[in-house]
Parts: sequence; structure tokens; C-alpha cells
Amino acid sequence: MHKDITKRFPEHILAQFPPAPRGPWADVPDKDWENWHWHLQRRIKDVEGMEQVINLSDDELNAAEATKNLFDIGIPPYYAALMDRNDPGCPIRLQATPRMAELTPEEWEMEDPLAEERDMPVQGVTHRYPDRVLFYITQNCAMFCRHCTRKRKVADPSTAANDEQIDAGIEYIASNPKIRDIVVSGGDPMTWSDNKLEKLLSRLRAIPHVEILRVGTRTPVTLPLRITEDVAKMLAQFHPIYVNTHFNHPKECTREAFIACQRLADHGIPIGNQMVLLKGVNDDPATVMRLNHLLLMMRVKPYYIFQCDLNQGNAHLRTTVDKGLEIMEKLRGWTSGLAIPYYVIDAPGGGGKVPILPNYVVSREPGKTTIRNFKGTIHVYPEPHE
Ligand SMILES: *Cc1c(COP(=O)(O)O)cnc(C)c1O
Ligand code: SF4
Repeated sequence: MHKDITKRFPEHILAQFPPAPRGPWADVPDKDWENWHWHLQRRIKDVEGMEQVINLSDDELNAAEATKNLFDIGIPPYYAALMDRNDPGCPIRLQATPRMAELTPEEWEMEDPLAEERDMPVQGVTHRYPDRVLFYITQNCAMFCRHCTRKRKVADPSTAANDEQIDAGIEYIASNPKIRDIVVSGGDPMTWSDNKLEKLLSRLRAIPHVEILRVGTRTPVTLPLRITEDVAKMLAQFHPIYVNTHFNHPKECTREAFIACQRLADHGIPIGNQMVLLKGVNDDPATVMRLNHLLLMMRVKPYYIFQCDLNQGNAHLRTTVDKGLEIMEKLRGWTSGLAIPYYVIDAPGGGGKVPILPNYVVSREPGKTTIRNFKGTIHVYPEPHE
């Protein structure tokens, strides 16, 4: 299967991307397993479903009941089979199964931590920065991630964008010549059919001041079988088009994910990764460095590391800012600059993304700036006279 795509990669690269296990679905025919609709239809939604794949901890068991009205469980078989059967601390499982800690209210929690709803000139478009917008087109995703920033809308059918709302969003963008970059988002736009997505993208592409289209999708991670040859070809009609995705852990870098990313890259679509820093998942430098190396081999550029947002129910997944700085410190200089994303805090209350760096400037005086490098040695840069 997929020989055409993988055969030009050397064995030692491919060997780092093992085919995903199929868990309890070992006997499912390939034609079903490789069909993304099959996975969406069979998403795990409850205790019974989870018990097919993992031995639930008491905490997960109680949380499944207790979080019922807060945030849906939704795990496609492909992603579910990556979970460790016996370890509730498995980094895949932490992103997919509910925990009692989600119910512990914290004083800083917010339903809409980034004030995305406030900065909406029309329903479904967040316009915060001068020249680009977020355009939400669906509330559905292949998987409902427990750490999702948009829990307020994801999985909630009442927040689905209807045709009028989509029309109003396009109208807003079309009448604002400053908008040159559109991030098509949700939810996950790749849950739409190829046809529906193609119609939307062609309407956006037809707007003369729009230069860049981006599609934000986690399907290369949670359901890479969604990235068919056909959909990659369809997207490539709308160049320049970028895809941003959301890998959080090396375990997600399967052969299937590899193939999905090659399909996009082969069609000239640059792929960026937006990792969320999550306790127990990727809060150590070695894990992040390994992830970023795997991403580069998949031709995915690490773009952002996000400090975990203040959304409801993710207290147990947050880390300190020191942890993020430690990770950045152990990347710069120690590995390829290509493997180094920006570490950002999306400022609570809608301040936007703010980059955070370890401090490499030791002192600044008139005429000279003193800096330290990744190994800690001190260097002076004399500045030109003005
Ligand atoms: C993240 C974001 C964007 C895109 O930001 P880039 O830094 O250009 O990737 C646009 N609008 C909003 C509201 C965002 O949160
Ligand atoms: S795919 Fe993205 S939008 Fe959907 S649940 Fe996961 S983090 Fe949220």
C-alpha cells in the first residue's frame, strides 16, 4: 500500500514512522480502515467504546459520566488504537479520554480565554490582527481533544456555521481589502466533504485582495486517512495555500501520518505544526526535540509551541512558563534552526500571540550589546556609531 509515496524515502527514515497499530480493529478490511468516513462513523463516544481499546482507570470511568454534559468524548478508531491499553498517563490517552480533574473549577478558567467571540465583526469570523482573520466553518472535528481551546463551540451542534453565516463571513472578508490571509478553521474544516470544502475555498480564492489561504486541521494527526490523494489535489487548486496542523507527541508520527503529510507536500502545500505544551504529554525538551525532528522528516515545519490556554477543564494539563522556556533553551543551538518554533502565549482576554524567548541579552549599553550563546559563553557586539 502507498508504495508510490514512500519508495523515494530511504529505509532509515521510513523506519522511524512505524505503521499505526489497529488494536481491536485488526480484522477490519483495509478498504474500510482506509476510509475516513468509516472512522468518523465509528468514533468512540462512551465508556463501552473506550473499554474495547483500553483498561479504563477509575478516574477515567468516573469522568466519562461526570463530564457528559460538558464536553463530548469523540475518538476515531485510528487514534484510539494508538492509546496504551494499560497506562492512563499515555500521551495519546491524555489527549483523548476525560479525567475528573477537568471538573475542578479554577479561578482563572474562562469559557472563551482568547476572547475570540468578542473580536467577531460577524458571527464566525475573528478579526484581531490587521491583515488576517480566523474563519470558523464547522464545530466538528475528527477527534475532540480534551485540551481544546474552543471547547465552547467544538462538538456543540448549536454553534455550527449555517449557510447564511458562511455567506456573511465571506461577505465580510470580501468587503475588507486589508484582509490578505484567511485561516479556515473550526472545529476542523477537513470534516467537510471534498466537494463542500472546494466550493468554499474557490469562493475565498476569488476575492482579489486575498493572498494566502490556510487550512487549520488536526486530521493529519488524529485521522491521517482523511488526507487522500484527491483532497490534496483539490486543495492544490487554491495555491498559495498552507496547512497548519497540531502534532503534540512523537507517538503520533505514524506511517499513516507520514503519508498524509507527503501527499500535501507533494502537491506543493507547505505544512506548519502548532504544538500545545501539555503536562505529561510533551513537557520535556527531549520529547519536543524528537517530535520536531520527526516533523521535519515529514516535511512539516514546527511553527508554534503554544502555552496552554486558560480554558475550562485543563488545569491538570497546564505547565509553567519556565517549562516552556527550558524547552526553548534546549533547542536553540543544540539542533537545527528549522526544528525551532516560536514559543507563544496567546494572551488571555484577547491580547493575541506574544512570543517568549529565553533571555540571551546580558546587557545593553550605548555602543555595545552583550549577549550569551546557547552554551552560556558571553560575547560583545559593538554597534556602529550613529
Ligand atoms: C493565531 C491567529 C491568527 C493567525 O496568526 P499567525 O501568527 O499569523 O499564524 C489570526 N487570527 C487570530 C485571531 C489568531 O488567533
Ligand atoms: S482538532 Fe483542534 S479544534 Fe478540534 S478538538 Fe482538537 S484542538 Fe479542538
